[in-house]
Amino acid sequence: MVDSGSVLIIEDELPIRRFLKPSLQSQGFKVLEAVKGEEGLALASSHNPDLILLDLGLPDMDGLEVVKRLREWSKTPIIVITARGKEQDKIAGLDAGADDYLTKPFSVGELMARIRVALRHSQLVKQGDQEPVFETPDFKVDLAARVITVRGKEVHLTPNEYNLLAFLIRHAGKVVTQKQILQEVWGPASGDQVQYLRIYIYQLRQKIEADPDRPRYLLTESGVGYRLKTD
Ligand code: CA
Repeated sequence: MVDSGSVLIIEDELPIRRFLKPSLQSQGFKVLEAVKGEEGLALASSHNPDLILLDLGLPDMDGLEVVKRLREWSKTPIIVITARGKEQDKIAGLDAGADDYLTKPFSVGELMARIRVALRHSQLVKQGDQEPVFETPDFKVDLAARVITVRGKEVHLTPNEYNLLAFLIRHAGKVVTQKQILQEVWGPASGDQVQYLRIYIYQLRQKIEADPDRPRYLLTESGVGYRLKTD
């Protein structure tokens, strides 16, 4: 069996753990389990897993607190598990440093897709650089030359549009919150200019998407933020 790495599950609900553990093991992951937040933090520091799956509703502490405490010393990708409709929790989790989220109930396919993206991203961060060319079936971005080609034709982006796209490419496949985008692309002072961001997303879709009204790449994560799909 391939060794895919190790995953720490911090989750108090037994049915979810019973679903997660064999799913992960069948993909070659070693699985560590914690039922409480403190136990999870202890296992994270003693075993240094490659990825953490974290339920936000834990018996002894708020899952958000676990994210914050992990981020004080660890860059390990964290995927939070949340209940449907808890958009505020998702945003808070991502802003606290989680990499992505899964909404219950989710399939093995979704779980593995999220894990693959998070692990690939953390690998790139570790290497300290990223691929110089980002490519999808529809468009290609040469990040070194700052050249964007959409369906074979070079397209001009304004500096703000380019910076937004480059930010999304750095987080390709992962969800990013509106706040994260605004702060990273336009600086800390731009805090809650969500309208501003919407306009740039709209403009980028016009330039990149074959059908801007039904985007294939620049997806809205309803109530949370955006995700650049990579395939
Ligand atoms: Ca729970």
